[in-house]
Amino acid sequence: YFLTVEGCEGAGKTTVIELLSGYLSALGHEVVTSREPGGIEIAEQIRSVILDTKNTKMEARTEALLYAAARRQHFVEKIVPSLEAGKVIICDRFIDSSLAYQGYARGLGIEEVLMINQFAIEHTFPDLTIFLDVSPEEGLRRIHSRKDREINRLDLESLAFHQKVREGYLILAERFPERIVSIDANGVIDDVFVMVKEHLERFLRK
Ligand code: C5P
Ligand code: MG
Repeated sequence: YFLTVEGCEGAGKTTVIELLSGYLSALGHEVVTSREPGGIEIAEQIRSVILDTKNTKMEARTEALLYAAARRQHFVEKIVPSLEAGKVIICDRFIDSSLAYQGYARGLGIEEVLMINQFAIEHTFPDLTIFLDVSPEEGLRRIHSRKDREINRLDLESLAFHQKVREGYLILAERFPERIVSIDANGVIDDVFVMVKEHLERFLRK
C-alpha cells in the first residue's frame, strides 16, 4: 500500500506516521516511512533550495516545479521500489501538499499543478491519504513551541496563507473522496490516532 499523511504546519503528521508505522509493523507489514520534499539525497538537496530563507526571490511556478522534481526522484528511487517489494510506504506529504500550497494557496491553480505532477508520478496516486485537519492558529501555536524547529521560508507567510492552505485541502478532500479522509487533528495525539486507526482498519478490510 501507498499511504500519505497531509496537513498544515503543526498538524501532527510526523507523530501520526511514527504511530502508524509501529501499528502496521505489529500487524506484520513491512513498513517504509519517508517524507517530502526529501526522503532521498537528491530530493533533500532540492528541499534545502526550496526552503532556504535566503531564497525570497523564488517565484511560485519555480517552487512548484522544484517540488515536482524532488517528488519525481523520490518516487522512482523510493516509492516505486517499496511498492514493488510489497511493502507499505507511508509518506509525510505528497502530491496533495503541492495542490494545496502551490495550486490553491499560491494561486497557481489546482489543475495546473496537478498537470505537472502527473508528469512526475505517472498517475500513481496514494491508496489512502490521511488529512490531519488542524486549525492554522493551533498548528502555528504548536510549531512555535517546538524547540528543535527548522526555520524555513514558509515562516515568512501570514496566518491568512495557512488558512488558504487548509481551504485547499478541504477542496481536495471533496474532489478525491475515494482516497482522502479528513480527521480532526485539533485534539491530543492519542485521540487523533484512535480516529486514524478506525479509518485505516476500514481501509484494510476493503
Ligand atoms: O512537512 P514539513 O514541515 O517538513 O514541510 C516543510 C515546509 O515546506 C513546510 O513549511 C511546508 O509548509 C512547506 N511546503 C510547501 N509546499 C509544499 C510542501 C511543503 O510550502 N508543497
Ligand atoms: Mg512534520
